[in-house]
Amino acid sequence: MLTITRDHAVYAMDEKNPPAAKVQPGELVVFETEDCFGGQLTDESQKMGAIDWAAINPATGPLYVEGAMPGDQLKVEILSIEIADRGVMADAPGEGVTGAALTDEATRLLPVENGRLTLSGFWSVPVRPMIGVIGTAPAGEAVPTGTPGAHGGNMDCNQIGAGTVLYLPVYVPGALLAMGDLHAVMGDGEVAVCGAEIAGRVTVRIQVIKWSPLPTPFLLTPEKAIAIASAPTLDQAANDAVMAMHQLLSDTAGLDEHTAGSLLSLVGDVRICQMVDPAKTCRMEFPRRYFEQVGFRFP
Ligand code: CA
Ligand code: CA
Repeated sequence: MLTITRDHAVYAMDEKNPPAAKVQPGELVVFETEDCFGGQLTDESQKMGAIDWAAINPATGPLYVEGAMPGDQLKVEILSIEIADRGVMADAPGEGVTGAALTDEATRLLPVENGRLTLSGFWSVPVRPMIGVIGTAPAGEAVPTGTPGAHGGNMDCNQIGAGTVLYLPVYVPGALLAMGDLHAVMGDGEVAVCGAEIAGRVTVRIQVIKWSPLPTPFLLTPEKAIAIASAPTLDQAANDAVMAMHQLLSDTAGLDEHTAGSLLSLVGDVRICQMVDPAKTCRMEFPRRYFEQVGFRFP
């Protein structure tokens, strides 16, 4: 099994990044990832404002997928996410939403044991590991790993966990997949500017889809189909996610436009992924069973 170690870190999704490794479709690949602070916060006396910001948001990779060409999609099966035994959170005045209430910085180390983390030595929270940053290289201008977009990137979607399948666009030969920024757990919104930031290992299997009707980024969980969109505002991101799913239902799954909109209004859920990054990310969640009722098969 191919393993990409965490010293293969990039700080932008960039077609110029040399591949850390090459893989044939269908092979298992392990990405070892560092936390979003680059592992710099190891003691609660250290504050976010004092660390090296050039080393923030490392993504492990990129991985060159043989046969992936512009116009294809990558189908990334997330088989497992293993997390370290300690996470970290840091906040600061003006950062995120809750930073408006702060006058000083704080760092909290979060021991993880038996599927739960502990905050401030008291609060016990069940973990639900997820991938914050995962994306392909855009064509042309590079995108920092801290920014989400059509290529994926820093979407901070807490649904991207083990047992899900993520579809990403391919813009450049080999796709150049990279990922990082695992969270042991994070609520919708990521309101304090971070989740339970943690290092770990992600095992994936990647396929190249030569023709796909799906909008991207697009996620399948066992129960839900999820269109993800990022935009300068939450309003725009939410609208884009809704309309991506509406178009899929009406153009491809064969529903008329009224029925597609009505079903989305009845059983679709618009949710915020994150509201704290340079672009905001929302998603439209829709039960898979309605696709199955019309005989639509996901690629
Ligand atoms: Ca993030
Ligand atoms: Ca993060």
